Amino acid sequence: MALFRAVVLAEKGREPMLGEFAEADLMDGDVTVRVTHSTVNYKDGLALTGKAPVVRRFPMIPGIDFAGMVESSSHPEYRAGDAVVLNGWGTGETHLGAYAEKSRVRGDWLVKLPDGLTAADAMAIGTAGYTAMLCLMALERHGLGPERGPALVTGAAGGVGSVAVALLARKGWHVVASTGRPEEAAYLKGLGAAEILPRSELAEPGRPLGKERWAAAIDTVGSTTLANALAMCRYGGAVAACGLAGGMDLPASVAPFILRNVALLGVDSVMAPRPLRQEAWARLARELDRDKLAAMTATIPLDRVIQAGHDILAGKVRGRIVVEIG
Ligand code: NDP
Repeated sequence: MALFRAVVLAEKGREPMLGEFAEADLMDGDVTVRVTHSTVNYKDGLALTGKAPVVRRFPMIPGIDFAGMVESSSHPEYRAGDAVVLNGWGTGETHLGAYAEKSRVRGDWLVKLPDGLTAADAMAIGTAGYTAMLCLMALERHGLGPERGPALVTGAAGGVGSVAVALLARKGWHVVASTGRPEEAAYLKGLGAAEILPRSELAEPGRPLGKERWAAAIDTVGSTTLANALAMCRYGGAVAACGLAGGMDLPASVAPFILRNVALLGVDSVMAPRPLRQEAWARLARELDRDKLAAMTATIPLDRVIQAGHDILAGKVRGRIVVEIG
C-alpha cells in the first residue's frame, strides 16, 4: 500500500498528529498533486487547534492551500509536471488538505503558477497574500486609487496585513498600518507603511462618524476595529473587509453609508471564481516585490506546523510562514 507523510486529524476533539496516510484513501478528484509547499494561515490555526469548527469531515488532513507539481491528471488543462497553486474550495475543511506530500483535487480548483513565481514564493504569499490582492482589486473596482487619500491596513503585521501593506505601498498609496505590536514598526515601514497607528486607537467603541482619515481600508480584524475603520473613512471611500481576528461582530451604525457614501466591500477567497483567482495570482507575480516577500517570510518543516497553528492564534506570527513539505 502506497503511503505518504501527512498531518492528520483523526476525529473531532483529537490533537493533530504527523503520521502516514494511504494514497488509496485520498478523496475524489481528477488531478493528483505532489505537494511541495504549504503555509500557515489564521484559518489553519483554527483547524489545527480546534478553536473553531473549520474541519467538517474526519479524518482530515488540515491545510487550506498548497503549491506543488501535478503528478497525474485526467483534467484537460493539466498534465504531469505542471506547477500549480490551490487556495480554498473547502480544502482542509471538507476535502483532504495541504499538510501532506500528496493531494487529489478537482482540476477546476487549481491555478497554474504564473511565470516568475516558485512554489515557495506562492506559499509565502499563500491564501493570506492572495486575499490581500483580492481586497486591493475590490477597492480598485470601486474606483479608488492613491490620489484619493491614505489607505488603512488593520492587523498589519499579520499575513494578510503584511502583504496588503506591501501591495498598497507599491501602487503609491500612503499606507497607515494599524498594529498591536509597536515593536514591528520598523518591519512595517520596511514593507512600505508611511504611518503606524496603534491598534488601541481603533479597538474601542467609537462614534458613528469620526474624523475622515482614509479613503480606503483593508480590514482583517472585524468588530469595533471595522466599525471605526468605516466611521473614519472619507466621503466616497470604501473598506474591504476580509477578516475576524478581533471578532466576528460588527457594532457599527449606518452613518458612514448614508452620510458619507462609504462602501463596505466583503471579500471571500474560498469560493472566489476562477477568473478572479487567475487575475489575482498574475498580479501578485508582477506586483509583489520579492525582497519584501522574503522580509516577511519564515520557513519551517512539516513537523513544526502544529505548533505554528497555536502561535498564529496567539498573535505571535509576524508576516508569513512557508511550510516545506516534499
Ligand atoms: P494573522 O494571524 O497572520 O494576522 C492577524 C493579525 O490581526 C495579527 O497579526 C494581529 O496584527 C491582528 N490581531 C490579532 N488578534 C487581534 C485582536 N484580538 N484584536 C485586534 N487585532 C488582532 O492572520 P491572517 O493574516 O492569516 O488572517 C487575518 C484574518 O483574515 C483572519 O481573521 C482570517 O481568518 C481572515 N482571512 C480571511 C480570508 C477570506 O477569504 N475572507 C482569507 C484569509 C484570511 P497586529 O499584531 O499587527 O495587530
